[in-house]
Amino acid sequence: MLKIGGESLLGDREYGIDPKAVLLMAEKIKTIYAKDVQIAIVIGGGNIFRGLSASKNGIDRATADYMGMLATVMNGLALQDALEKVGVPVRIQSALQMPTVAENFIRSRAIHHMEKGRVVILAAGTGMPYVTTDSGAALHALELHCDVLMKATKVDGIYDKDPMIYADAKRFKTINFKNAIEMEEVQVMDTAALAMCKENNMPIMVFNLFDNGQLEKAIDGKDIGTYVSNEAPTVLV
Ligand code: UDP
Repeated sequence: MLKIGGESLLGDREYGIDPKAVLLMAEKIKTIYAKDVQIAIVIGGGNIFRGLSASKNGIDRATADYMGMLATVMNGLALQDALEKVGVPVRIQSALQMPTVAENFIRSRAIHHMEKGRVVILAAGTGMPYVTTDSGAALHALELHCDVLMKATKVDGIYDKDPMIYADAKRFKTINFKNAIEMEEVQVMDTAALAMCKENNMPIMVFNLFDNGQLEKAIDGKDIGTYVSNEAPTVLV
């Protein structure tokens, strides 16, 4: 399960979708597709619309969240287009019904697509408001029996403090769920998603999608990013 935040589609823009960034992302996904890995992708919508921020400006929270989910469908369609362009077979399913643009999310069908060698993009998160696509990724990873939830972020792992602010911040090589949830300064993904992964033993790998072939290296078992699990010791690099 690959969770890609909407920010990864921004490229150099401040808002929206940069087709060049999406194409680059598709190329990266192709490198692991070529290794016969079954891939499901949950895509975010933060580059277009976030429910929580819009609700602070007066839109009803649930309505704003549904708008956010629609943003993830737009991103999903952009990624589907790019994957097709680089020759990767792909289907898109949506947790909100819109059969003219995406299949409805049907668990057995998503599994079937992956077994047939198709990447499956899961749009609209959980289909329910008040949560984020991180929760969508955690839920879908569990129900599709994925091996690992790969969370693509701007930085190449989880740090003991914000690496964008502190030059001496250190990366965790591995961290266990208990510590990841307890450390407030460590923002891996939303707490509900983290708790769901902890309770159900779904390991998470946090890595940078655009850096030095990290996705490929992670799939090859190389020591990159940060691996979060119930068994892992909490160790800095
Ligand atoms: N969203 C939601 N339910 C879900 C998934 C997403 O309500 O199951 C809404 C929510 O408003 C969220 C927006 O869709 O802010 C975009 O998703 P997210 O913020 O997770 O995108 P990302 O940060 O990954 O780009």
